[in-house]
Amino acid sequence: MKLYLDFDPCQECHTLMKELSSPEMLFADEKTRSDGSAKFLRHLTYNHNEVVQAVMEDLPKQKKDQEFDFFK
Ligand SMILES: [Zn+2]
Repeated sequence: MKLYLDFDPCQECHTLMKELSSPEMLFADEKTRSDGSAKFLRHLTYNHNEVVQAVMEDLPKQKKDQEFDFFK
C-alpha cells in the first residue's frame, strides 16, 4: 500500500486496505488485483472525495514509477 495521504480511514477503508495488502492479493493475478484497487478507489470516490481530489492534484508531481499501484 503506497497511499501516503493524510486522511482518516474509516472502518471500510481499513478492511479494503487490509485486503489489498494481504498475501492473497499480493500474489493474485492482475485482474483480481485491479478489481481490488478499483473497489478501494470506488469507496474513496464515494466516501472520501477529498482524498481523491488531493491525489489528483498530487499525481502530476509524482514520478511515473512512483504512481499508485492501485490506481492503475
Ligand atoms: Zn473509508
